[in-house]
Amino acid sequence: VFDHLVRAPEDPILGVTVAYNKDPSPVKLNLGVGAYRTEEGKPLVLNVVRRAEQMLVNDSSRVKEYLPIVGLSDFNKLSAKLILGADSPAIQENRVSTVQCLSGTGSLRVGAEFLARHYHQHTIYIPQPTWGNHPKVFGLAGLSVKTYRYYDPATRGLNFQGLLEDLGSAPSGAIVLLHACAHNPTGVDPTIHQWEQIRQLIRSKALLPFFDSAYQGFASGNLDADAESVRMFAKDGGECLVAQSYAKNMGLYGERVGALSIVCRSADVASRVESQLKLVIRPMYSNPPIHGASIVATILKDRSMYQEWTIELKAMAERIISMRQQLFDALRSRGTPGDWSHIIKQIGMFTFTGLNSKQVAFMTKEYHIYMTSDGRISMAGLSSRTVPHLADAIHAAVTR
Ligand code: PMP
Repeated sequence: VFDHLVRAPEDPILGVTVAYNKDPSPVKLNLGVGAYRTEEGKPLVLNVVRRAEQMLVNDSSRVKEYLPIVGLSDFNKLSAKLILGADSPAIQENRVSTVQCLSGTGSLRVGAEFLARHYHQHTIYIPQPTWGNHPKVFGLAGLSVKTYRYYDPATRGLNFQGLLEDLGSAPSGAIVLLHACAHNPTGVDPTIHQWEQIRQLIRSKALLPFFDSAYQGFASGNLDADAESVRMFAKDGGECLVAQSYAKNMGLYGERVGALSIVCRSADVASRVESQLKLVIRPMYSNPPIHGASIVATILKDRSMYQEWTIELKAMAERIISMRQQLFDALRSRGTPGDWSHIIKQIGMFTFTGLNSKQVAFMTKEYHIYMTSDGRISMAGLSSRTVPHLADAIHAAVTR
């Protein structure tokens, strides 16, 4: 009965790793994955995560019963506090409904399904470009996906005028997807001043902000600084949605730990929202997994473990920032034509190099360097050892 099926293409991002794995070259380099690597090119499990896991294992009172539909209660409270801030008026007024979901993707999907069912406006504006999964997540949930201008290839920076025009002409009530920080794939974020203008425009047009926070703490090394955009919106009394992921900032990729928070106008509305979120979640996966959320809750509620986490997080962010500088210096020392200052200006895990798909294909073929065809490279996949190889490849690609 499945004979008619055609082979589906590989996922454009995960497919890069599939191709990389098939390459026997000893100098091959995978800059496609959005996962942190050490200087030695190895995946990293944070010490504080190992410590939390040990504590969980040693605690014989712990069982493997189902969690409630909304997940682990401590985890939800601590997650809302982490993103909105300990002093958030919305939390103090019990106006936030938080549910544990399957990492960032699952949180976006639950939020999207909820909006498709219960929100009057079905149009969502996503930045152009954005993470490749966004249009699929929102489209399949039943929302109608439109884009707003975000990136300006000429300046390799923000197209702020275009963004304001496009959101300014969006229909009243439309949903707007915003990357909380470290925009993927461009690494280009609005300044705080620009965020404030975006906030005023969104509120004046009664648009509904939906934040995707996949990199809190990973961008600047500071958890509060990276949450500033979200907090500006949560503070003004209006509604917003936030999808949080612990994949990057705690290195819990495969544990699939995340949360969806919906900031409402009153405690009463928030509790009705939560009751409806349960109806969204129950037929999808019934309830979320317990292990990863227990790790996060253990770390977030203990002062010294929290402190240890922030130190390890900062070290990851700083290694990435140092890779930016090293790559920039390597291109400058080779005299590679072009202005490469965007490498040090952009924020977060990725650099949007400006290399085109032909140059990317050349670098893969001749230098065994793997990345998405839009020229996005994961700075986290680089090390001092591999920077010269990448710089040689970029130099060859642009001077060919
Ligand atoms: N949003 C953005 C912008 C991302 O870059 C990612 C991960 N690449 C995600 C969401 C979701 O990640 P996860 O589901 O692993 O938390």
